[in-house]
Amino acid sequence: MNKKTIRDIKVAGKKVFVRVDYNVPMDKSGQITDDTRIRATLPTLKYLLEQEAAIILASHLGRPKGSPVAEFSLAPIGRKLAALIGQDVVFAPECVGPVAQSMAKALQPGQILLLENLRFHKEEEKNDSAFAGELASLADVAVNDAFGVSHRAHASVEGITRFVPAVAGFLMEKEIAFVGGAVANAARPFVAIIGGAKVTDKIGVIENLLQKVDTLIIGGGMANTFIAASGYGTGKSLVEADKLDLARSLIGQAKERGVNLLLPADVVIADRFAADAAHKVVAINAISEDWMALDIGPASQQAFAQALVGAKTVVWNGPMGVFEMDAFAKGTEAVAKAVADSGAISIVGGGDSIAALEKTGLASKISHISTGGGASLEYLEGKVLPGIAALADKE
Ligand code: ADP
Ligand code: MG
Repeated sequence: MNKKTIRDIKVAGKKVFVRVDYNVPMDKSGQITDDTRIRATLPTLKYLLEQEAAIILASHLGRPKGSPVAEFSLAPIGRKLAALIGQDVVFAPECVGPVAQSMAKALQPGQILLLENLRFHKEEEKNDSAFAGELASLADVAVNDAFGVSHRAHASVEGITRFVPAVAGFLMEKEIAFVGGAVANAARPFVAIIGGAKVTDKIGVIENLLQKVDTLIIGGGMANTFIAASGYGTGKSLVEADKLDLARSLIGQAKERGVNLLLPADVVIADRFAADAAHKVVAINAISEDWMALDIGPASQQAFAQALVGAKTVVWNGPMGVFEMDAFAKGTEAVAKAVADSGAISIVGGGDSIAALEKTGLASKISHISTGGGASLEYLEGKVLPGIAALADKE
């Protein structure tokens, strides 16, 4: 990895601005329903505290649209963090301005200050230079540990790096090493498994990965468009009629490049889109007219698992079927198991894929679970993420 991390710079006695992603889900009463994103930052924070840095934390929460909204205050998140890390977290009711300035100034090594929601100011998302300068003036150095927003050039992510040196935190380091590593120079054989509802969502990912992988596996709803493009009937399956040419072109590109493209050989079809629908396994040339394909079949499961044997790198994004319904979850479970058992460097991204993986209890066998939905898709598309590009390079 060619980006500096907090290990590569001196942080002792410094004021360190840490951009985190504490955009956690909350219920109507303001209770945090999942604190994974807060816990995920603890290694970075503990390291900085051990090094006797003073930490200034900044995040967004929800969509306050550029002005203060009480329900999106970070105050409850500060209390949660204090409980998790076992020390006081001072809360600044503003992220910029005189109060934030004096609180940051008074902060001592080993202390944590949490700033109020960055998006209470429209300048944050506009990457306003003066606002970025104000954030930077609170600290000596900036740390980005918010991969999930690094595909956006926002003031706390990108603008700030023009005023103070910026490096990666440990969460960001892992994303760059695994997702960035897979895109830049994956160990071979390299297999990508792409699924999910629609081709449209993942065209960029498929196009980019086609240039990198040895094998590309396509499953899930999007496989129907490829099946239709290959000339088979798809009944009432989800098919993107306007993407048939694209699917044919992608099939052609795979052939030209010598990429082994695997589509389902059989599917589970159902007579309705419902958990209790009648369902059966058929070969892909036998999808009944009034039925719809909602999962890959057992022969496909086996072929996909077989394609992972000996792989050195596996990237998986998108479920193989409507995994939310037990009757159509088997394909996704089989792929999760095959990825976990592959012995390859395994990288899983996508909100639904991660949810499906966690349901199988195999998450701990995956090398890297990418935290940023949009950011990991753009990274897999081969795009430059502004928040990563702005970090200092290693000498
Ligand atoms: P991720 O969040 O992992 O990137 P997507 O959002 O692209 O995944 O796709 C997940 C959704 O795709 C799930 O809600 C799942 O039910 C749906 N899906 C998968 N296979 C099918 C299918 N054959 N027909 C309709 N929907 C499907
Ligand atoms: Mg999704």
